[in-house]
Amino acid sequence: MSDIGTIAIVGAGLAGVEAAGTLRSEGYDGRIVLFGDESQPPYLRPPLSKEYLRGEDALDKVFVHPESWYAEQRIELRLATRVIAIEPTTREVVLDDGRHTTFDHLLISTGASPRRLAIPGHDLSGVHYLRTLPDSDVLRAAVAGAHRVVVIGGGWIGSEVAASIRQLGLPVALIADGSVPLERVLGNEVGKVYRDLHEQHGVELITNQRAVAFHGRNEVEAVETADGRLIEGDLVVVGIGARPQTQLAAAAGLEVDDGILVDQHLETSVPGIFAAGDVASAWHPLLGSRLRVEHWDNARRQGRTAARNMLGRADPYVRIPYFYSDQFDLGMEYAGHAPAWDRVVFRGEPAGREFIAFWLRGGRVVAGMNANIWHVNDAIAALVGSGETAAVDRLVDPTVPLDELVAVVS
Ligand SMILES: Cc1cc2nc3c(=O)[nH]c(=O)nc-3n(C[C@H](O)[C@H](O)[C@H](O)COP(=O)(O)OP(=O)(O)OC[C@H]3O[C@@H](n4cnc5c(N)ncnc54)[C@H](O)[C@@H]3O)c2cc1C
Repeated sequence: MSDIGTIAIVGAGLAGVEAAGTLRSEGYDGRIVLFGDESQPPYLRPPLSKEYLRGEDALDKVFVHPESWYAEQRIELRLATRVIAIEPTTREVVLDDGRHTTFDHLLISTGASPRRLAIPGHDLSGVHYLRTLPDSDVLRAAVAGAHRVVVIGGGWIGSEVAASIRQLGLPVALIADGSVPLERVLGNEVGKVYRDLHEQHGVELITNQRAVAFHGRNEVEAVETADGRLIEGDLVVVGIGARPQTQLAAAAGLEVDDGILVDQHLETSVPGIFAAGDVASAWHPLLGSRLRVEHWDNARRQGRTAARNMLGRADPYVRIPYFYSDQFDLGMEYAGHAPAWDRVVFRGEPAGREFIAFWLRGGRVVAGMNANIWHVNDAIAALVGSGETAAVDRLVDPTVPLDELVAVVS
């Protein structure tokens, strides 16, 4: 299978490294070059807001593979190397040192970068963002010297960081623009579970508010909210979402619209050039819509599918979106895609924090989340993927096995 020549991968994150490994495990024998602009070999980002940030996981646990693996797999890992242009016609990538590498097939897995909060005082020291391993190191060191922390953003990064820093013993205030944390993804019913969880662990929640300014001389001292309050803090973490890194693709003339547009095989508008992970906006044949997913599982699996398709397979990417989060003593997994829903029903008591929530639209389960209940997420994903109408009385009845719901819904 070496007749393809060179496969270049731009972006040495999870999607990129999974693609590289899959090329080899599928028997591809040709040249693989994996370009990454960070200095570290590919690593996992989820621990950066959880175990690694809290100092519970050592550095070796965050790397996807030991460094020796790349040589063993004959993967040319070019770290601290930024690709500054892609030339689709000459099939070349241009590097920041001026060199060019030709490719036969290309994967773009450039991920996403944090959205910045452009408000007065944004350049004060003590204002942090979290995306990279060095960001997490810097934040952990800053936590050690801080007295009071303000987290801006009630999404996944914000709420996980607030939980971790609170677990490290510091007072934490969390500013969220919704009425509860995680409202945008989970809605009010399930968001309330997170509100109660954070409050019970002593996080001060400031809801329905936006940050409008940072105050301080050289270092941040307080965050001003839209209602004029000053929330004191000598360390601020901003987690207000991420933007796909599409600049290279757009400049190369690939179709881009909130992500690099790819078909169900993860191929871009230019044949032989693929995209995967946070940066890809992929057509999902089962859900019948285009989706850009910023989650670990999606990066992993899209990287693998893109690799197989670069080798000539035509595997559609049909995985139901999946993600997980751990905050305090609440672990959860979520399967599905629910931009809108009619109602949420529960199997188990949300207040007891051991439950399954189902999001329903037009009688169908469009998403489900298991909280502190394990080994059920595949059944939930199958239910979502079936697209069948669900019987609510059976959904909420804990005596009905979940894997029987797919067969019996009508
Ligand atoms: C703090 C944190 C916690 C998270 N927790 C969870 C979680 O609990 N559960 C979950 O499901 N997901 C979680 N995620 C999301 C998950 O980590 C991402 O979805 C995943 O990392 C995406 O992988 P990727 O390979 O697409 O992109 P990335 O991991 O962003 O990798 C892309 C790489 O490409 C590099 N790059 C970009 N442009 C260039 C260029 N021009 N040249 C060379 N290299 C370039 C980037 O620097 C980066 O190293 C978390 C993310 C963060 C930041």
